[in-house]
Amino acid sequence: MTTQLLQDLVLANHILFNEGVLDGFGHISARDPSDPGRFHISRMIAPALVTVDDILEVDLDGVVHDERNRRTYVERFIHSEIYKARPDVHSVVHSHSPTVIPFGVTGTRLRPVCHMSGFLGNKTPIYEIREFIGERSSLLVTNQKLGKALAETLGAQNVALMRGHGSVAVGASIKQVVYRAVYTEVNARLQAQSLALGEPVYLTDGECIETAEAMDTHLDRPWQLWVRRARASAGATNTD
Ligand SMILES: [Zn+2]
Repeated sequence: MTTQLLQDLVLANHILFNEGVLDGFGHISARDPSDPGRFHISRMIAPALVTVDDILEVDLDGVVHDERNRRTYVERFIHSEIYKARPDVHSVVHSHSPTVIPFGVTGTRLRPVCHMSGFLGNKTPIYEIREFIGERSSLLVTNQKLGKALAETLGAQNVALMRGHGSVAVGASIKQVVYRAVYTEVNARLQAQSLALGEPVYLTDGECIETAEAMDTHLDRPWQLWVRRARASAGATNTD
């Protein structure tokens, strides 16, 4: 893992907190470019507090490799099983971003209502953990079996909702997955507002493909803004 990638992973943690995707919970990881069987993720702390020193290395069985025996999140199996199932995925975000949750519990499917969120496609799947663990559980993805089931629910999509819990977004890079996680939340807000006014006109499958491709060429622009905004917020906090 290069220093630049580790720094981007730290920045991504701060951005996702600052943009309202992560709070005290949730996490982002990045696959190791030199070893596809390993990924990097913070130890078990709030995303806004993550530094380079907090980043741990984990294998695709969810085992942490750390000389100091530090622990990462109990839901690391979300990441390990998606990396196992999807060689094209190099970064994963799991969040509880609040506007997305209602779409996982009502039968109203999350669908793209604007050109920024074409990556969602029109078939956003929902992971129903009861199908895999029964009616009494923490809803957390705490083992390989549950992680594998989530990866299968995600299939080839970029985003999957988790009923009563949150969502997972995947991407080919840290910048792409941060964009997708932010705009999944934005789309959920816009779709909820649209549904309050009437029946929305959703993007067609063709518009989803074309808009997603177009926006993928502009990932640096919002990233630079989000970095600056996250740093400004952190600076303001430090002077408290
Ligand atoms: Zn969670």
